[in-house]
Amino acid sequence: MKVLKFGGTSVGSAERMRSVASIIAQEQKPLMVVLSAMSGVTNRLVDLSNALKAGHLGLARQAVADIEQKHRQAAESLLAESPALLQEALAYIADTIQLLTSSFAMPWSIELEKILLAQGELLSTHLFYFYTRTLNWDSRLLSALSFMRTDEHNEPDINYIRRELLGQLEAHPAEVYITQGYICRNAKDQIDNLRRGGSDYTASLVGAAIGAEEVQIWTDIDGMHNNDPRIVPDTFPLRKLSFDEAAELAYFGAKILHPASILPAQKYKIPVRLLNTMEPQAPGTLITDESVERDIKAIAAKDGITAIKIKSSRMLLAYGFLRRVFEVFERYRTPIDMITTSEVAVSLTIDDDTHLDEIVKELQAFGHVEVDKEQTIVCIVGNFVADKPGVGVGIFEALRNIPLRMISYGGSPHNISLLLDTRYKKEALLSLNEHLFKAEPARS
Ligand code: ASP
Ligand code: MG
Repeated sequence: MKVLKFGGTSVGSAERMRSVASIIAQEQKPLMVVLSAMSGVTNRLVDLSNALKAGHLGLARQAVADIEQKHRQAAESLLAESPALLQEALAYIADTIQLLTSSFAMPWSIELEKILLAQGELLSTHLFYFYTRTLNWDSRLLSALSFMRTDEHNEPDINYIRRELLGQLEAHPAEVYITQGYICRNAKDQIDNLRRGGSDYTASLVGAAIGAEEVQIWTDIDGMHNNDPRIVPDTFPLRKLSFDEAAELAYFGAKILHPASILPAQKYKIPVRLLNTMEPQAPGTLITDESVERDIKAIAAKDGITAIKIKSSRMLLAYGFLRRVFEVFERYRTPIDMITTSEVAVSLTIDDDTHLDEIVKELQAFGHVEVDKEQTIVCIVGNFVADKPGVGVGIFEALRNIPLRMISYGGSPHNISLLLDTRYKKEALLSLNEHLFKAEPARS
């Protein structure tokens, strides 16, 4: 069975939902469909929650009105030919709007916020399900709240998911199963979510749970590109990537795929295909266990990075120093992305600076601390074989005129990371593109 996940833009209007249905119609059944909320809806629900938190009822009302209008409009267009189903859909929308409105009178809490955020995917999947019934499909709506679960560490409970999901598939045979991305229940059985962009993660967890033959992520771009198409002209989609390469790219800035979604697919060896709803025939990007022989495949960049340097003569010939430094970050649950060391100093980067002040304060106990904000990690991904000389030459040649704050190579055979001031990002990406891809335009 395949799992097909469609993102917010792909289900963003009645017309887009019709295209989704025609893509599904071409595929072999049975299959599983995972949908995001209609585009913009989760953002509006976040606005709603923020407005309630701040006591701005006017803004809250506006957000709810927008959400209502968007779904009513889609329902009226999609279900125009089937008055009974249209009534059912409008009643579902009205119930949801009632639920959102009733939150105005409730004290704000994080639990309430999660209930509100869950409504986007519930709405989109209901609408799409009603639409498939007008097409006389043998379809079934499965509530992700009945099988998607996280444990007490907020990690997906794959055994629970597998057991529940397989049980439901067996109990209710259908050709097309439709479910919500993003939403789940937590260990306390409360409504929760897999964090923003989490529908990809749902799709790969579902794929892993049922041992899917493939997970397809349908968006509005034709696969993962070799460079950031918003900055660099003439980028091209990569046909094949390994899980490791895709994970590095997703984490370091390629927005097309949620980075966490690689893990379950990799662990259970489920191929992931990135495809474009606007151009369904395009081959997209296939992510599998295999690595294609090609030195440099792609470049991604991640902004909003903070670099921290700790300089201490106590580090000289000492052991246990790095452990104590890392423990500070661990205490504040702040992941470190890049690290470079010299005999008397260590530099590292974080992208979550929520606890920066506390972290710096504790680090000052070890030595002199310097902080640089607004940095960018440029990540060059490929298949770098250590005994093959010359990999760095093209990269450094390209960046001859750009000050590099940190360089990290050798941590993984798939990644060379550089840290630079965000001011130089555009110049760096353009120049790397020129040197690394124009000279040798072979595409893999
Ligand atoms: N709707 C959620 C979001 O916008 C999840 C997703 O689309 O992946 O973050
Ligand atoms: Mg997404």
